Amino acid sequence: MAAYEANGGYNSLKTNIGQRTPAECLEIIKDSNLRGRGGAGFPTGMKWSFVPMDNATPGHKYLICNADEMEPGTFKDRLLMECDPHQLIEGMILSAYTLQADIAYIFIRAEYHKAIGLLREAITACHEKGYLGDNILGSGFSLEMHVHVSAGRYICGEETALISSLEGKRANPRAKPPFPQVSGLWGRPTIVNNVETLCNIHHILEFGADWFQALGKGEDAGTKLYGVSGRVKNPGCWELPIGTSIREIIEDHAGGMEDGYSLRGFLPGGGSTDFLTPEHLDLAMDYGTIGKAGSRMGTGTMIVLDDKTCPIGFIHNLTSFFARESCGFCTPCRDGLPWSAQVLESLENGDGRPEDLETLAYQIDYIGAIGNTHCALAPGAMEPVQSALKYFREDFEAHINEGCCPYERSASGGAV
Ligand code: NAD
Repeated sequence: MAAYEANGGYNSLKTNIGQRTPAECLEIIKDSNLRGRGGAGFPTGMKWSFVPMDNATPGHKYLICNADEMEPGTFKDRLLMECDPHQLIEGMILSAYTLQADIAYIFIRAEYHKAIGLLREAITACHEKGYLGDNILGSGFSLEMHVHVSAGRYICGEETALISSLEGKRANPRAKPPFPQVSGLWGRPTIVNNVETLCNIHHILEFGADWFQALGKGEDAGTKLYGVSGRVKNPGCWELPIGTSIREIIEDHAGGMEDGYSLRGFLPGGGSTDFLTPEHLDLAMDYGTIGKAGSRMGTGTMIVLDDKTCPIGFIHNLTSFFARESCGFCTPCRDGLPWSAQVLESLENGDGRPEDLETLAYQIDYIGAIGNTHCALAPGAMEPVQSALKYFREDFEAHINEGCCPYERSASGGAV
């Protein structure tokens, strides 16, 4: 608390709470063009504007911080919470004030032991300072905040499954609409935002929408935490202007490929995005540009595929993970993903047949189509598979023709 305050922490709280109206705060967030950093990039101000503000029906309104970070290759929110827990809490208090939510939860994955402890300590320190609890800083606004440790499944991070889980039910996603903004936790208006999104809020309210817009390099506003993992010299996570080029992220910040390895492709935003290849290196890492290139910026944390790792082993590993994490509610996801993983396993081992590629293409069309499944888990899981078939088709054919895996390393590690 002392270090955070010495660096200007909680200034934004003091200058906004009770000083600006919630409606004024909402206008600033809308004008800032902040987009959700959990992966989907939905405009935050627009999402908040769907929350009824007339208070016609008495009852609670909820703010939930989604800290259930389980996207493969993604570790940015852990760093934010471990290195600066108060930043998240200040962002949440001002978000709750803007939304007039009176109860806030941090829904966090169980493996994040260090962050769980730090956040609990930080919440206690905030109560002692009068930043949380009743009548915060004499503003008349009250907020209680709880850390809730996740039940430990990937699907718990999907906002409606998260809400089911918080209610003590099985973590099945719910049909949308109704969106949580109008009917969420216990049927009450609820906003679910990612950690990184919430960490931006008090900075925007302190320094203004124009300041935030100017931080970005292209169409999008602000900064972004970008990560790189795989065979690079310096895997890690960096806060950079949103719209920084992929080349700068991989070659300068991650130090380029390890000696003896070259770049074959990369998943730009975690395990549920489509591969891009070296020809895409000069693109800007922003939502629109990566979308136009046929993938998604997702969480902004790249997983790099090198030339000595089997691409089929790589996607077999991912598909096995998604198959295991299916909630089992709908058939295409529950039965389709294990089937895809099985086909990929036999292809990787050299036991595949030419017709397996048609089976895989059928699975991509069927399981990968939004609308055929109850939520986005299975379509997301099929993104690396469909783009691997597009960019690395000769590898599939080589495995079938040679009856073995021609690579020195497999990324699957026998994960099934
Ligand atoms: P989504 O596009 O359905 O929703 C994103 C947000 O916008 C939600 O809060 C939703 O309520 C809101 N929204 C969307 N359309 C709306 C509308 N018409 N009206 C009102 N609100 C609307 O995406 P999603 O399924 O919530 O998330 C998918 C993303 O999550 C993927 O891009 C994936 O990369 C990412 N993801 C991240 C992690 C992680 O660990 N950070 C894990 C899994 C998936």
